[in-house]
Amino acid sequence: MKIAFFDTKKYDMPAFDEYAEISGVTIKYFETRLNQDTVELAQGFDAVCVFVNDTVNAAVIDRLAALGVRAIALRCAGFNNVDVKHAEGKIAVLRVPAYSPYAVAEHTMALLLSSIRRIHKAYIRSRDFNFSLAGLTGFDLHGKTVGVIGTGRIGKVFARICEGFGMHVLAYDKYPDRALADSGAVRYVSLDEIFAESEIISLHCPLTEDTYHIIDEKALAKCRTGVVLLNTSRGALVDAEALLSAIKARRVGAACLDVYEEEGDLFFEDNSGHILEDDILARLISMPNVIVTSHQAFLTAEALENIAETTIGNLVSLFDTGKCENEVHHTL
Ligand code: NAD
Repeated sequence: MKIAFFDTKKYDMPAFDEYAEISGVTIKYFETRLNQDTVELAQGFDAVCVFVNDTVNAAVIDRLAALGVRAIALRCAGFNNVDVKHAEGKIAVLRVPAYSPYAVAEHTMALLLSSIRRIHKAYIRSRDFNFSLAGLTGFDLHGKTVGVIGTGRIGKVFARICEGFGMHVLAYDKYPDRALADSGAVRYVSLDEIFAESEIISLHCPLTEDTYHIIDEKALAKCRTGVVLLNTSRGALVDAEALLSAIKARRVGAACLDVYEEEGDLFFEDNSGHILEDDILARLISMPNVIVTSHQAFLTAEALENIAETTIGNLVSLFDTGKCENEVHHTL
């Protein structure tokens, strides 16, 4: 089997090479993203492997099918960039529904600790031999109340980590996990109680119509003054303009963002030589109490291994048996 791999980053290759060799699969890596201009590169391949910013629209799907490509293997969970409905019956769409939840949950805690213990400031100071502690006062997490919104795979792990720190963990989920509640690790409450009681709020729910801008001006007005907001889930869960206003008004104490609503054209790439057009992101990054990472929470060796193993496994299963449990259908 021959796979054309698009939007390749250096960190993708070691794990994919390992599982390709085990499975006797050949991978050709392309740096370019898959779109209408680059689709001809897929000629002679059995499958394409794509990520979150490749454009797999109807025209690309039709051309892939005409070239004899039989599968689109997403090396991520989300598939909003693929016209799944159009692909039905023409070409199989496969994905990686789950990988190390520890990667994302641990990154969330890393951001929280960095923020409240001012590690990002201290690191820069000590490199300049500035050993002053002025302005670096943090606070203990022990005894604080954290509100976890979404207690699926990642939210549950994050809740357990917080429990380990001796925090009170409140949770909100459209579908509460009874076993988690019964274990005593979290107490499920309403969304308004999360806002009213939490000193720290962490988002781990998916982006849906229900959760779009779940953190907006109204929600922020219900939060405690000084609340720390963590978002390692999806950018559009937060109305960034409302967040910026609440930070300027000194109502939000700190924000840690691994995702941003308009991240598509910026994140994953080196834009350091460019003028940033997005004034809201630029202003957020300029704040002393905001930390932004570039959709990095998934990036651990273990998660990359899981992703490569599942992606190659998906393709082998499809080509050997005609079936794959991780195939996406438009009815999903
Ligand atoms: P999951 O499906 O296991 O859990 C999601 C949870 O959210 C479920 O318990 C679900 O019931 C709950 N939920 C659904 N609708 C809700 C609503 N309206 N209000 C509250 N809760 C709701 O997903 P997961 O694997 O834990 O991933 C969580 C999020 O993390 C996903 O949105 C994913 O996109 C994001 N993520 C980010 C990165 C990153 O690198 N930053 C990596 C992986 C996943």
